[in-house]
Amino acid sequence: MVQYQSGITLVVLLNILWSILQISIPFITKALVDTGIQNQDMDIVWILLISQFLIFIGITIADIFRKWLLRHIGVRVNLQLILKFLSGIIKKPYSFFSLKEQGNTIQHFNDNLRIESFLTNHSSNFFNAIIKLLMFGILLFIFDAYIGWVFVAFNILLIIWVNLFISTREYVDENRFKLSAVVRSELIEIFSGIIDLKSYNQEINRINAWDQVQTKFSDIRLNMLRINQLIFGGIDSLSQMRDIAILFIAAKLTIESSMTLGTLIAIQYILGNLNQPIRKIIDFVPQYQDAKLSLKRINAALSFDQGSATDQLSVDIPKTAGITLENVGYAYSEKKYAVKDINMDIPFGKSIAILGESGSGKSTLMKMMLKLLPVGTGKIFIGPKKLSIIDSKSWLNNCSVVLQESILFQRSVLYNITFEEESANTDLERVYRCLELCEVLDVVEALAHGLRSIVGEEGINFSRGQAQRIILARAMYKNVDYYFLDEPFSALDRLTYKKVFKNLRDGLEKKTLIIVTHKMEVAKKMDMIYLLEEGELVEKGNHESLSKLGKKYSDIFLSED
Ligand code: ADP
Ligand code: MG
Repeated sequence: MVQYQSGITLVVLLNILWSILQISIPFITKALVDTGIQNQDMDIVWILLISQFLIFIGITIADIFRKWLLRHIGVRVNLQLILKFLSGIIKKPYSFFSLKEQGNTIQHFNDNLRIESFLTNHSSNFFNAIIKLLMFGILLFIFDAYIGWVFVAFNILLIIWVNLFISTREYVDENRFKLSAVVRSELIEIFSGIIDLKSYNQEINRINAWDQVQTKFSDIRLNMLRINQLIFGGIDSLSQMRDIAILFIAAKLTIESSMTLGTLIAIQYILGNLNQPIRKIIDFVPQYQDAKLSLKRINAALSFDQGSATDQLSVDIPKTAGITLENVGYAYSEKKYAVKDINMDIPFGKSIAILGESGSGKSTLMKMMLKLLPVGTGKIFIGPKKLSIIDSKSWLNNCSVVLQESILFQRSVLYNITFEEESANTDLERVYRCLELCEVLDVVEALAHGLRSIVGEEGINFSRGQAQRIILARAMYKNVDYYFLDEPFSALDRLTYKKVFKNLRDGLEKKTLIIVTHKMEVAKKMDMIYLLEEGELVEKGNHESLSKLGKKYSDIFLSED
């Protein structure tokens, strides 16, 4: 905000100048009527008219300049607010980003806009209005104190009226926010799932369902408009009554000769000038209330945090450390554990397969090891250190990850592997080698621009199996000690995944490799196998020992053709 200070000071000075110019007008008017017209002195009339004209020009120039300044400050403040909000949101733990949150996040942008508009337009209008109200209010008392009190009394009634609606508005606004987040996340879902909806002929149904929510949302907005209409209708009526009452009193005083005609006209002018700031101050109340609600929501969103304070976390990752899980559990909801009481020992440099039916908790377990999810119950150790005291960014720097949610970005193939568009810092040879190991080099080389081809552009769209291999190449390109691959071969045919897996094993020898997989051929060749069932660890060993055990693992293995 510091950089706007000189601008803001200028605006304040201009406002004061503007107000001084304005308050001189009623005195000039009074003089015009009481001295000029009554004494039939044309010279005075001319002088007064010319000075009034000059004041008018001064006011206009000051006003144009003030508005220009405010607009400029406003745009910058807005950009900064949005950036601050975005960088706050992006630091949130992975678990924060559900679909519902996407709708909410977009909604929060509107909240930011509201605050921006409040900070720039409304608050400056408000302060202008307060200055103007004070100045003309004092003037009113100077011209006639009795009328001044009548004015105050009516305004107290106005304030009471507006206050009656505050809690109703708050309630309606909260509903409006919730529903509009639903409207948005629905829309995101419809577009991201359009192929599924279309292939089941559901797109029209979904849009209709969306329209119903949208209609409900419109109803709420109408409700809000109705409340506002009621508030402002009341305000307008009260203001009218106030002005009529004051005019009546002033006219009576003038007829009784206890007030000059000049004063009567000056009071008329003052009343005219008081209406506008009062209206603005009253407009300000709902705006202030809305901005406050928006700010409350934004702060609530930003303070959602599952991790502990980052500054006390350790950034040193123990060297050649194994991973140990002690009674680890996780529950997404209070009712049911997704994984429960897991004990695992993953020695450094070994390869581990995690097996289990879908829903048995494999991905959850892996995300906890990566600290993408907080450890629910129990403890995870990296060597001697507890994962909970390790900074998750430092830990992730040592890990290479393929998740089931992993996607290709609509950038170049090169970016999709290295996260860099330029090859200045990249080891191109390594990129090619990884593509080759993942059996996808020929696919990339067949593209018109090779590594520079943009995914999603010019008809470049990879099949799921191709995309999966590029995502694997991304994981292999990162040269680290720990590799976490969640069903990395799910979309590959038998011949391809066997080749890719062999290359991967050879390429990642001496690395710690954790693969979640359904492929028995993969599991068979891993150093250790952990079998999960409904969130619990039921068998562990290697292929030989588990086959001999003759339980679940050998059942699955034998049932594979
Ligand atoms: P797997 O990877 O073995 O298929 P997951 O770890 O994905 O299993 O899921 C384990 C259990 O947790 C499942 O019952 C699943 O329904 C539930 N689950 C997974 N992710 C979430 C989530 N984000 N919110 C709530 N429940 C979840
Ligand atoms: Mg999974």
